[in-house]
Amino acid sequence: MADKDVSETIEQLVKLQSVAKEHFLLHEKKNGLLKDLEKEEETLQAMHDTSNDLDQQRNDLSQAMNDVQNQIQEALEAIKKLKEKEAYVKTQKEYIALDTEQSIQRDKIKELEKESQTKTKELDEVKTLYGKQKQELKDQKGRFSEQQLEVDSSIEEIEKKLQDIETIRSEVLPTLDRQTLSRFERIVQNKNGVGIVPVNEGICEGCNIAVTPQVISLIRSNKEIIYCINCARILYLPKRTSIFD
Ligand SMILES: [Zn+2]
Repeated sequence: MADKDVSETIEQLVKLQSVAKEHFLLHEKKNGLLKDLEKEEETLQAMHDTSNDLDQQRNDLSQAMNDVQNQIQEALEAIKKLKEKEAYVKTQKEYIALDTEQSIQRDKIKELEKESQTKTKELDEVKTLYGKQKQELKDQKGRFSEQQLEVDSSIEEIEKKLQDIETIRSEVLPTLDRQTLSRFERIVQNKNGVGIVPVNEGICEGCNIAVTPQVISLIRSNKEIIYCINCARILYLPKRTSIFD
């Protein structure tokens, strides 16, 4: 006696398989597109961060240059005051002390001017980099928008196809028990979209490996769902060949 439930389940799974591969491939394609877009967005974000960093460096360098200029001004003021004191100097010793202080300030100015030159050079470099980065960012933004539009329209197409498939799935899904369905879907996911395969002339069509006669009679008995021991897919006997042997 054939178990009516299993043969009906197999029939429904075969029906589900007719759209399962496309369903699987469409989901894979959709996920791939979204992943590519995500990568592109990460690149954009990284470029944005770099641009912000350069902007920050530019501001810091400008600030540092202002500080250097202020220190030069302070040193110049100090020299001016030291020169004013010279008029009131009484001894040679005092004069030498003032002169020493002035030359300390002059050395300081020399150092500061060197620093200012270095900073100016750095600032020029950062400005150039910032300009380049801004242009690249703009280009990347353009590319990203284009890609986003392309992905949106591709996904729209995919969704339309998935809706058609969903119509077929919605007829089949309520007829299957949750456990069988989830096992089937797991196989579909792991086996490139194919969860149930016929055994033709003793060969599993999923993996092209011979199935034992015992397994074939188990399938034929329809008492339980039989899985290929090699590829783990659900096996069934196409009606055409089930009349043989
Ligand atoms: Zn197999």
